[in-house]
Amino acid sequence: MLGGGQLGRMFGQAARRSGFGFVVFGDQSDSPAGQIADHTFSAEFLDEDALKQFAAIVDVVSYEQENIPVRTVEVLQQYVPVYPGPALLKASQNRLLEKTALRSIGIPTADFLRITSAEELTEGVRSFGGDGILKTVTLGYDGKGQARVRSQQDMAALWSQFKTSEAILEKVVDFQFELSIVASRFGNGECRFYSPSVNHHLNHILDVSISPSPLISARQIRDAQQMAQGILEHFEVIGVLCVEFFATRDGGLVVNEIAPRPHNSGHLTMDACRSSQFEQQFRAICGLPSGDVKQQSPAVMMNLLGDHLMNATPERWASVFELPGVFVHMYGKAEARIGRKMGHLNVLAGTVEEAEAIGHEARRRLGFMSSR
Ligand code: ATP
Ligand code: MG
Repeated sequence: MLGGGQLGRMFGQAARRSGFGFVVFGDQSDSPAGQIADHTFSAEFLDEDALKQFAAIVDVVSYEQENIPVRTVEVLQQYVPVYPGPALLKASQNRLLEKTALRSIGIPTADFLRITSAEELTEGVRSFGGDGILKTVTLGYDGKGQARVRSQQDMAALWSQFKTSEAILEKVVDFQFELSIVASRFGNGECRFYSPSVNHHLNHILDVSISPSPLISARQIRDAQQMAQGILEHFEVIGVLCVEFFATRDGGLVVNEIAPRPHNSGHLTMDACRSSQFEQQFRAICGLPSGDVKQQSPAVMMNLLGDHLMNATPERWASVFELPGVFVHMYGKAEARIGRKMGHLNVLAGTVEEAEAIGHEARRRLGFMSSR
């Protein structure tokens, strides 16, 4: 696994359960994934000697975050298969390439413009009717590296703050809600889809995912699957990806972005499905058949950020473990900081409304003051 974060950890847990060995590259040995790995290579992603040593002891490689250099994957591919391959990685690292690739296969995205100067920004915002979202082309996550822009703003000042030679300006999509679908594709071309989830963000960070959601229509489920399949096939993916969408007010879908890996919004599959998104990932990359991705119960995923854990005590934790249908997943991070993803709760119940209420109760029991 390239990267040692929580997505690598949960992949490792799934693979280990079935008896696979698991090696991490590119993080500290006490990283969330490193804690459960057989071995960690704490080396730079472009250290070719270390990559060669890593490749020599593994049979297959995947990655758990998209900021791995494409070159790393290309080097490793000389020795060992890497899934998904560099094409999807490259597109998901660069918002311009990503949207251009999506458009080329007929998938709707927000209108966008490449911006390289304050003048282009001024003109772009005007052409979008006086409103837009300016984003860095690479390295944005959890809303970092983006700004809402309106035509009355000082574009020269904003542009110089961005400290970049290239950015993307997106038209603001007037969406009703946000949803995502996690999909997997196997060596024989077979594609599988989880039930899409509705996602609520707080301070630009995913807060709650709900599946199945009464907000999502049958047509939107079909469209989400079709678009995800188009993307899986276009990039010849073997592995798992997530497509995030805006649900527009006319009942349509617009793609926001692609994650070339399992996704935070798919964590509820760990308890609500027989084969989780991480099990699908190791099955796909190890040449095994798909598992059963059908959802077995209504489910809600609630993130536990540092914010939620500031007042937690062993007694408070114990009271969370008393709640029925609550599954606690913690990532082994030593330091809880505001906005840092420390773990999540999956809640299964008879209805998603009930699951969501139990989840908020769990956060309250941890001592978090403002969970609804
Ligand atoms: P992450 O990687 O955590 O998903 P990110 O930093 O890559 O986030 P985006 O997914 O591009 O950023 O945007 C974050 C959020 O900002 C979106 O989930 C959505 O709520 C809002 N947003 C982004 N682009 C648009 C747009 N064109 N129109 C309307 N809302 C948008
Ligand atoms: Mg996003």
